[in-house]
Amino acid sequence: MNPINTISGGTLYIVATPIGNLRDISLRALDVLSAVDIIAAEDTRTTAPLLTHYSIAKKIMALHQHNERAMATKVINLLAQGKSIALVTDAGTPGISDPGGALVRLVRDQGHKVIPIPGANAAICALSASGIDTPHFLFYGFLPASSGHRKRELEALKSQPSTLVFYEAPHRIVECVADLADVLGMHRQITIARELTKVFETFHSCVLRDACAWLQAEPNRQKGEFVLLLSGAEEDKGEVSDWARRTLTLLLEDLPLKQAVKLAAAITGESKNTLYALALALKG
Ligand code: SAM
Repeated sequence: MNPINTISGGTLYIVATPIGNLRDISLRALDVLSAVDIIAAEDTRTTAPLLTHYSIAKKIMALHQHNERAMATKVINLLAQGKSIALVTDAGTPGISDPGGALVRLVRDQGHKVIPIPGANAAICALSASGIDTPHFLFYGFLPASSGHRKRELEALKSQPSTLVFYEAPHRIVECVADLADVLGMHRQITIARELTKVFETFHSCVLRDACAWLQAEPNRQKGEFVLLLSGAEEDKGEVSDWARRTLTLLLEDLPLKQAVKLAAAITGESKNTLYALALALKG
């Protein structure tokens, strides 16, 4: 057997598991899960059916967000005794918007070997089939739960030219998309990737202006798991659309320049700087 495929004692394996479809697991992942001494799982109730499906009977211990650091000591002791351990989370790749990062740091600090077993990841899965042709993307994961914090973090991302990738839970999907529209502007392109690898897998692309209405048009569209892909900020070439020019012209008739620019930017999603320069030009 290729030595890279033999299971070594004193090693922590970071094993990606499916994000929906149970068959999305690698042969190597199954080999490792079958051969290690212990599996550390985010939620033993979620991992048990996967192991049963593949006829893997193994000792499982719980390692989740709330006990990760405490359990790291236990994992390190077991590794020191020469045990092999696999870390899995509920879905996808451990450490990616999931527990794992802190454990890996602590295990590496103690000089133990950590081996990744790659596989499913919701962000990459969504990007790969979205039709977004981008050389760069910024994986952000979950935005904050409160609208105020969420908008503040979005402000910091607003001028980022790379495609933005977010995770979102179903109970927050509509308010999150509404905040995306508010902060990033109505004209940004969004792809809503829902229930990937599952029966109701859906990809829907539109501009942010239309995204909330699409989600609300059918209650099932707000259910399940979501990845949101947002086109990056356009390079500010100092050009504005006819619509933005007309909006600004109308607002300038009744409002002071700064207020007209602020409103026009909020309505049209155009850059404030560009609209400001145009407003000055229009005012002569
Ligand atoms: N570690 C995982 C990964 O590698 O993608 C992510 C875990 S994170 C706790 C769970 C979030 O990932 C969900 O709320 C959702 O945003 C996204 N996600 C996971 N599975 C998904 C799926 N099948 N379809 C769409 N999004 C999914």
